[in-house]
Amino acid sequence: MKVGIMGGTFDPIHIGHLLAAEAARDSFGLDEVWFMPSHIPPHKEQAGASGEDRLGMVAEAISDHPCFRTLDIEIRRGGVSYTIDTVKEIRGSFEDIEFHFIIGADMVNYLPKWEGIEELVNLMSFIGVGRPGSTLNLAALPPYLHGKVLLADMPQVDISSTEIRERLATGHSIRYMVTDSVYDYIRRRGLYGIQPGRTD
Ligand code: ATP
Ligand code: MG
Repeated sequence: MKVGIMGGTFDPIHIGHLLAAEAARDSFGLDEVWFMPSHIPPHKEQAGASGEDRLGMVAEAISDHPCFRTLDIEIRRGGVSYTIDTVKEIRGSFEDIEFHFIIGADMVNYLPKWEGIEELVNLMSFIGVGRPGSTLNLAALPPYLHGKVLLADMPQVDISSTEIRERLATGHSIRYMVTDSVYDYIRRRGLYGIQPGRTD
């Protein structure tokens, strides 16, 4: 069985994440994609929404896809989430599964800085997707990453969670940037400084 892991902060999950996961699944015949919110990402400040809410929003966003699942391992473990720790932990329980980690172009360029990356590339491959604002140049990666990053085509979506948080905090709509179910979740829980009672 081939499984894609879609890691991220998902603060909140948006359609760029969903399209990336679907493009990877479709291009490489993945049986499932597991969406795995990090607890504290190594390269970021603390997240805006709690781990529980970020996981809740992911669950809402993917509920209608027959092949998408959530994986709460990093939220449960707590602390800073290093992919190398996670992959070592899950490999023991899923020995028959071939794992592929799905990442956008900004993360592809950041791969050399990942904790334990030289060990990680021997445990799984990466599927990279394009993202506006970041150039995908696999040849520029260090030699140990050559052949380890496969590319999937996706419609380019210039949306980030940062932009969504800023729009909510300043009273703007995020409709169609996230699924209706995620927008409802944000309203219901009053996340990201959204004005109470807004329905647009
Ligand atoms: P933030 O602005 O908070 O960093 P983000 O939109 O970058 O949020 P993350 O949770 O940091 O979302 O990203 C998780 C993964 O999804 C990363 O590998 C990232 O490259 C990828 N990704 C996020 N947005 C897009 C997008 N619009 N197109 C392609 N890949 C994306
Ligand atoms: Mg990001």
